[in-house]
Amino acid sequence: MFRFRHSLRAQLTLFVAALVAIIVVLSVLATISLITIRGKVEAVDRKWLASTQLLGEWTDRISEFRLAETYRALATDAKSRDAAEELAGEHRRAIAELQAEYVRLHGGDLLDLVPLRTAWNAYFVAHDAWVKADSDGLQDDQAQANSRLHHLYKVAANAIDRVVELNISAAHAEADYVSHEVRETLILMIALCGTGIIMATGLMIRVRTNISQPLGAITKALGNLAAGNRHVDVPELNRRDEIGQMAKAFDIFRANAFALEQAHEATRVAQQQAQALARHDALTGLPNRRIFSAELETALGHAREGSITYSVLMIDLDRFKPVNDLQGHAVGDLVLCEVARRLKEAVRKNDTVARLGGDEFAIIAEVEPHGYPDTVIRLAGRVLAAIREPIHLGTNKIEIGASVGIASCPQDGAEPGALLRAADIAMYRAKRDGRGKFCFYEQSMDEELRVQAALETDLRSAIANGKIEPYYQPLIDIRDNHIYGFEMLARWRHPERGAISPDIFIPLAEQLGLISELTWSMLRQACRDSREWPDGILLSINISPIQLKNPALPTQLLAILNQEEFPPTRLEIEITETALVSDIESAKLILTALQSIGIRISLDDFGTGYSSLYHLRELRFDKIKIDRSFIQSMMENDESEKIVEAIVSLAKSLGLPTVAEGIENPEVLQQLAAMGCEYGQGYYFGKAMSVGQTKALLKVDIAVQKAV
Ligand code: C2E
Ligand code: CA
Ligand code: CA
Repeated sequence: MFRFRHSLRAQLTLFVAALVAIIVVLSVLATISLITIRGKVEAVDRKWLASTQLLGEWTDRISEFRLAETYRALATDAKSRDAAEELAGEHRRAIAELQAEYVRLHGGDLLDLVPLRTAWNAYFVAHDAWVKADSDGLQDDQAQANSRLHHLYKVAANAIDRVVELNISAAHAEADYVSHEVRETLILMIALCGTGIIMATGLMIRVRTNISQPLGAITKALGNLAAGNRHVDVPELNRRDEIGQMAKAFDIFRANAFALEQAHEATRVAQQQAQALARHDALTGLPNRRIFSAELETALGHAREGSITYSVLMIDLDRFKPVNDLQGHAVGDLVLCEVARRLKEAVRKNDTVARLGGDEFAIIAEVEPHGYPDTVIRLAGRVLAAIREPIHLGTNKIEIGASVGIASCPQDGAEPGALLRAADIAMYRAKRDGRGKFCFYEQSMDEELRVQAALETDLRSAIANGKIEPYYQPLIDIRDNHIYGFEMLARWRHPERGAISPDIFIPLAEQLGLISELTWSMLRQACRDSREWPDGILLSINISPIQLKNPALPTQLLAILNQEEFPPTRLEIEITETALVSDIESAKLILTALQSIGIRISLDDFGTGYSSLYHLRELRFDKIKIDRSFIQSMMENDESEKIVEAIVSLAKSLGLPTVAEGIENPEVLQQLAAMGCEYGQGYYFGKAMSVGQTKALLKVDIAVQKAV
């Protein structure tokens, strides 16, 4: 019932079924009516027309019988009489046959045939009587018989006329009935046709209002949706039939399409971002390494085809790390962005600038062969000048620089990888040669690199095999000229290359992650060596900034001292400020822990790098070591002397003793003593020496002391 009321299909089915039923009923009725009418018409034809004909014949026969009777009456001879009588007999038989035919035609329905029969029989009887009388010669009764026959003939003729009349009126009645029947059938058919038409019209209107129009509205809404209007109202949502279901499905579709579109949009944006990120360095917006490599590939393809050549400039920033470490990553990021901007300004239209990572940038420069190398030199000059220019961030003035390595195709490499490697090697050379410079790649640099690689291998095995030994440089108390300790300095005698400077292998050991291993193995040795020294002599060791990042450092150090039974109070460690800048808090914890077990802390290389009062105040150092570069230039350079003097007095004001490194002559020593510098170190007192030599030196020192 529910479905019937709400389902469009059910409604349509019902309508069509009704329509079909009407048509069927109509057809059946029409057929039945037509059959009936045809039957009636046939009946009229068959019965009434036949009986009318029959009655006509019958009437004729009666007249002819009368005529034959008259002939007989008028006949003058027997022959004529017999002929007339025979004719009369023939008509009589024909009438009997017609009568029988009539009865057969009408069955029981004899239409007042009784009076006719009676009249006819009476007439026959009278005729026969008349004939008999005539034959018998009873002429007297002739006239009477004639008049009686005439009368009976009239009666019989009237009777047949009456039957004919009845027959005609019955035929009329039948015809009337048939036409009535036809009219009724016609009316019924017209009525049914009308109902059918009304129903079909109703169906059409219903289909139009319930299906076509809603479908049109939904189609229009779909069209709007397809055109991008996401806020279309979905019509017919409240209907409970198929159109309503369709509208609901459409509404869901719209919501889904909307959600899908949003998801699609989000995906598109994400893809775009990912693509941009994949192609560009997120911070500076410059192309990244991937794109740079691809562009270089393309450029080198062009170079192979045509007359143009390319140079790659590898740019590494100098002094950027301290900016990042000291002033924070936010400032570092701003500096990188500014460098990127300046690089873009420095290059020409067809050059490509990219950030390869960290503080490393690169340029692909288009070079006309006849312009080489001047074009590249000018470009490198512009790049260096642009980066050298101080960067002002608020009140902050940041000064950095760059080292540039240049490699060109085809002479330095025809493939991107080879060219980049060559530029990289040249860049390292530029850095090594004193920074702020550019350097063209040369083939010999490859050899250096090979040597460097070999050095790394050798260093690994030297450290593993204890081939790097501790040497000791005396530390002097200037006030009484006596040795108060030794600084442990690493010495490596390479079997082929001879002595290699710690300035080379210490940074390498740091890079290779071997610095702790090296320090601890030398410290163990130094602890043993120091047993040869008088009790009060200090051992000073250098601790690399990398080691100071390790929270386990105090434990490791104490473990070695314990194992070697070396009192911590005899140990001094030297650290540079570089070690403090990256994470002063954890450095402070480590240093405080070391001091708490009696180890002294010296601030090494003071005056270079980041000398900051902040560090001096934050960490309670036990000594400050003035960098040897100041001491060495004191004699020639007033400024250095003033710096040294300032450091000494600053340290004094903080209650810290100072050690002057690099004292090479008595004049400098004298000057330092005059300034009030407490301690000294330098070739004047002695270079770093083997433990055996320290023993000899200490003997002399003790002898001197005794003499004094
Ligand atoms: P440093 O800690 O400043 O060591 C002092 C350096 O100055 C030593 O160079 C020493 O030989 C040199 N020197 C001392 N007196 C004079 C002088 O009068 N004139 C001149 N021109 N030089 C003098 P060395 O031994 O070549 O060491 C260089 C640097 O290597 C050291 O500088 C130190 O930073 C590092 N280093 C050496 N050994 C070790 C070590 O065992 N561990 C760590 N972490 N670093 C070490
Ligand atoms: Ca030192
Ligand atoms: Ca030093």
